[in-house]
Formats: sequence, C-alpha cells, structure tokens
Amino acid sequence: MKYPPLKNYVDGKFVPGGGEMLDVFSPLNDEVISQVPLSTSRDVDAAASAARKAFREWSEWTIKERVQVFYRYRSLLEDQKDDIATLISEENGKTNEEAIAEIEKSMEVAEFACSLPQILGGETLEVSRGVQCQVERYPLGPVSSITPFNFPVMVPNWTIPITLALGNTMVLKPSEQVPLGANRIAMLLEESGLPPGVFNVVHGDKEVVEAICDHAAIEAVSFVGSTRVAEAVYRRATSHLKRALCMGGAKNHLIVMPDADPAMTAENVVASFTGCAGQRCMAAATVVAVGAVDHVVERICSEAQKVVPGENLGAIISRAAKERIERMIAAAIQDGAQALLDGRRAEVKGNANGFYLGPTILDQVRPDMEIAREEVFGPVLVILRVKDLEEAIEIEHASPFGNAAAIYTSSGGLARYFGQRASAGMIGINIGVPVPREPFSFGGWNRSRFGVGDITGRSSVEFWTKLKKTTTKWSAEAGVNWMS
Ligand code: NAD
Repeated sequence: MKYPPLKNYVDGKFVPGGGEMLDVFSPLNDEVISQVPLSTSRDVDAAASAARKAFREWSEWTIKERVQVFYRYRSLLEDQKDDIATLISEENGKTNEEAIAEIEKSMEVAEFACSLPQILGGETLEVSRGVQCQVERYPLGPVSSITPFNFPVMVPNWTIPITLALGNTMVLKPSEQVPLGANRIAMLLEESGLPPGVFNVVHGDKEVVEAICDHAAIEAVSFVGSTRVAEAVYRRATSHLKRALCMGGAKNHLIVMPDADPAMTAENVVASFTGCAGQRCMAAATVVAVGAVDHVVERICSEAQKVVPGENLGAIISRAAKERIERMIAAAIQDGAQALLDGRRAEVKGNANGFYLGPTILDQVRPDMEIAREEVFGPVLVILRVKDLEEAIEIEHASPFGNAAAIYTSSGGLARYFGQRASAGMIGINIGVPVPREPFSFGGWNRSRFGVGDITGRSSVEFWTKLKKTTTKWSAEAGVNWMS
C-alpha cells in the first residue's frame, strides 16, 4: 500500500473513523493504494459539533481577514501542483494534464473567493426621512459538501473557498473511491492558517451522507454526483428543513450543423467525449448530426484515433464501471448501432490491469435505445441522425437531464436560436465543454440539478449566505409615521 490507511479530519486533527476500512484501488493498475474508513453517524456528530463550535469565532473574523487564508491556500495549490496531480492520477486514473487542469480550476475558485470582499458590499438606502434600511449578508453556520469520484480535488474546491470565505464552517464527505485528495486539502488549509474545526472531513458512504442530512447542526447541504443520489439527498436534507443544492448526472447533446467547421468541430467533439475518459458531467454524450454531415463525422473518427489509452486517455474509475460501459456498448450494437470505433479491447503496455477503454463511436443510434437515454460516463460517443435543427432540438428537449448543450455552426443566427431554445443550463457555441469560468456560475437545469441557483461563482453566494435587513432611525426629523 503506497499510502497509509486514511483518517478523518476533525477539529484540526486526523482521527480514526469508527467503522470498517475499505480498500482504495488505483484505476491505473488495480492495486490497493490505501484504505478509507467507512465512518458512522458518531463520526459525523463529532465533525458537525467541531464545525458548530468553530463557527462563532470564524464568522466573527472580517471577510478581509478570512480571505487571507485563501490567498495562502491558492499559493500552496500552485507550489504543490505536480505532487497533488500525481495523487489525483493515482486515485482517479486521469492523465497528469487533466489532473493539473483540475488543480488550476481549484485555484481559480480560490481567486474568486479572495475577490469576495470587493463584490460583497451591502446595500443601504434612506427609505423614509431619517430612516435608513441596510442589507448585509451573513453565513449560514456549519454546512456540508458531498462530492463525487470524478474530480477528487476540483469539486470539493467548488465549495470550500467560497463557503468558508463567506464565514461558514464545513463537513466535507468526499467520494470513498477517491478519498486521498480530501485529506491533502485538509493539510493545505491547515498550513494556510485555517483555524481548527472550520473544515472537517468525514470519509464513508451512504451512512455518512444520511447522517449529514439528518444532523441538527448542519444548516445546508450541497451535493454533486449522480441524479439518483442527488434527488435522494435533496429530499432527505430538505425534509429536515435544510437548504439543499444537489447537482446530478448529465447527457449532453452536441448539435452538428452542415455549415460547421469540420476541423474545429472534430477536434472539439473528441476532446469533449474523451477528456477525463468521458467521466465528466460536461462530457459530450450524443452528437446530433443534422443533414449532410458525413464529412464531419469522418473527421471526428480520424481525430478520435489519435486518442490513445494510457497516453492521452485516462482510465475508468473501477472494474465495475468499465464492465457496465462495455455492457451498454454491446447492447447498443446488438440493437442495431454501428460501431465506427470500438474501444473495448484497449490495452496499455505495462498497465495490463488498468481499467482502460478506448474511444468508442456508435452511429445510427435511435433515441429510444438505452445508450441514447442513459448517462454512460465513459469515452463513448453516440451519433443520432436527424433531418433538421427542429428535430435535433426535440431530441435535446426529450432528455430528462439539462447540464450542457452545444451547437457547431458558422451561422450566428442558428447559434443564437439554438442557445435560446436548448433546455440546458450551460450552452456551448462551437465549444464542447462549456464550463463557465469564475465569476460566472456552474449549474445545470432539469434533473441535472435539484435546488435553486448554481454551485460556484456569484450565484453560489446566494446559497451560502442569508440576508439581514436593519432599519434605523437616527433623526427626530423622521417623526412618527407608519414605520415607527
Ligand atoms: P454518486 O452519486 O455515486 O456518488 C456521489 C456521492 O454520493 C459520493 O460521495 C458517494 O459516497 C455518495 N453516495 C453514493 N450512493 C449514495 C446513496 N445511496 N445515498 C447517499 N449517498 C450516496 O456519483 P459518482 O459516481 O461518485 O459521480 C459520478 C456522477 O456525478 C455522474 O452522474 C456525474 O454526471 C455526476 N457529476 C455531476 C456534476 C454536476 O455538476 N452536475 C459534476 C460532477 C459529477
């Protein structure tokens, strides 16, 4: 085992979790690299109590004082980028370049958090003679962030810097499949000067998530993961009258028009469906090919052949996930799909036990097939053929998800029309992974998100704070009126 068994991080200390230990496998070679505790509700209680105890003092720091911690945190992320990237690749299976990108996005969110004092000015107005109204933002208290396997460092960092800079304290529950990044984050935050108890990590699975939703001290729950679990967590947290924002799965449609630039489109679509081995909620899942676009499809196939497992394509998270994807591909082919590229026999020299799958492109897929409806979460591109843009939009609308949608065209008018009609929260015009950069916020629509608002950027400030309105009378001039 390369890394010692993991502990929880509670009140500034690494402490053993109460439950059994689970092996952590590296998708690169199927080796056990560490063990993670499957903690219990008692561990959640200890962490929530530490977060509650730390809240009073932390929330009394001014925001300008609090963000100093995140200036230092951002620098540490930058200084230790290579080392953290190695850890991410080992536990998640993504390439070094993808792991670096994940850290860079984490740094960007920290930068946004550091800018909060500049953009968070409250409002005041003389609402009546001598009577002033003032609005200020207050933190909620101890909150929780529950995260998935596909970005072990970036998704926790969607919430950590913003939430804590706003004065909340936190219990993080990372994915038990990639738990190492979270403990590294705890160490970096401690080194950055974060006081004990402000940030806590409780490892585990469903039991921990349910205990978080049920715990009386936790004021708000954010979740990122699959739609099935996002919905269950949303229902459970809100049944305890907590604020909840739960981001779910995706099935993103990319519309290719006949006037699309073939080279740019092909490069872009391939980067979108193979990046992070397709294990991104922003990945291209379906190309909706409108009319005569065979020349673009051919280009996509030749571009995809440049993507080589173990070189510029990472591994699938687990053996079970890889087998599920292979089953979905086989079922689609059985059902009449035509495999233009089949990645099921991928081999990586020196890493024969890694969970690799090569790029796979399936043409002539029908909208009713499982592979066209369900999230695959692997480097698999499905092509649906349609006659015009209206039919393409109908298909996009029929999907229950709504994270991202994109169009490839050289017509500004068509792009605008599609952007307005698409039923998704993030739109790409000639961009296959339309992730909004800070300060713009990240969040989908429909069954890709339960709750109100987005999870990063300006929109997230609404979620992580509450408003206090103060009405003041200083002057006798105010007299007695209906407000008195
Ligand atoms: P997952 O839903 O299996 O797990 C997410 C978290 O929930 C983990 O911490 C896990 O331990 C916990 N969990 C799992 N089962 C649970 C249960 N029954 N009850 C309570 N908690 C449970 O998701 P995953 O496989 O780790 O991540 C992949 C999914 O996340 C994909 O569907 C992907 O689209 C989605 N995702 C969405 C976004 C977004 O912003 N919309 C971003 C990244 C990933």
